[in-house]
Amino acid sequence: MKMRTLVASVGVAALALTVGACGKDGTPAASGGGGSSTGDCGDLHKFDVAAAADVAGSATYAKIKARGNAVVGVKADQPNLGYKDANGKRCGFDIEIARMVSAQLGLDPDKIEYKEIPSANRETAIAGGEIDYYVGTYSITDKRKKLVSFAGPYFIAGQDLLVRKADTSMDAGKDALKGKKVCSATGSTPIQKVKDENLTEASNISEFKTYSECVSQLLDNKTDAVTTDDAILKGYAANAPEELRVVGKPFSTEKYGIGLPLADKPLRDKVNAGLEASFGDGTWQSLYDATLGKSGSAGTPPPLEKY
Ligand code: GLU
Repeated sequence: MKMRTLVASVGVAALALTVGACGKDGTPAASGGGGSSTGDCGDLHKFDVAAAADVAGSATYAKIKARGNAVVGVKADQPNLGYKDANGKRCGFDIEIARMVSAQLGLDPDKIEYKEIPSANRETAIAGGEIDYYVGTYSITDKRKKLVSFAGPYFIAGQDLLVRKADTSMDAGKDALKGKKVCSATGSTPIQKVKDENLTEASNISEFKTYSECVSQLLDNKTDAVTTDDAILKGYAANAPEELRVVGKPFSTEKYGIGLPLADKPLRDKVNAGLEASFGDGTWQSLYDATLGKSGSAGTPPPLEKY
């Protein structure tokens, strides 16, 4: 079935589940293996749960400990990052980072309660105590730092463009967007950049809660480009290599942080220490290679920015 027909017939919500859906056998190299699959999630990393974790002075940690598990905000439609398969299993790099943090805090990562929080609602969810922490392509910015705090970064991405494969008219990158229809997610740094820099006319901008809705628009010829982080776009392209491609001219620096309650410095320090350990002992690398690395790019841990 042609992709467009498929998307139209199954609807937007199922896009990430069905595009290039692949079983455990015959999984394409771009998307398979190690809990990274864009079809069914495979096996997840096995973390050793820290025995006697304690985070003196952390109100969030006291809450987590009393509850016995972490409540974590994530994305569910971003292949190889934050993804939920047709069986309800979650996988991807952000999911593994979320699980690692839980294990480092002394809590079973398999007991995490996940909440799907779209880009626009992250600060409210963290500040309102709806979640303990957030792991989902969440860029560290000065504006957001007034409302939440961040551990990390644990990855650096860059804003890019996803286009229909045969369309070469935007290969120059962001400066080729004038007169083009562009789609992105509400409350995201990429849509803000499109607006701030007038990359296209206001009437050409469409925004949705999630990026998979934009991908659906692109496949339906309702928009010309989807713009967000290359790490996210590469996951969609890897899923539909016959239909979509990433232009590959990144035009921003997106430092992914773990979103935490603003006042909880003890927890931020603890999570940073755990990230640092994973950067040094090879854990980060093996998590990356098994997940986001499958979207087609090599990666290394970035320098932490403790504050
Ligand atoms: N990293 C960007 C942001 O935090 C875009 C991805 C997203 O919306 O999660 O806004």
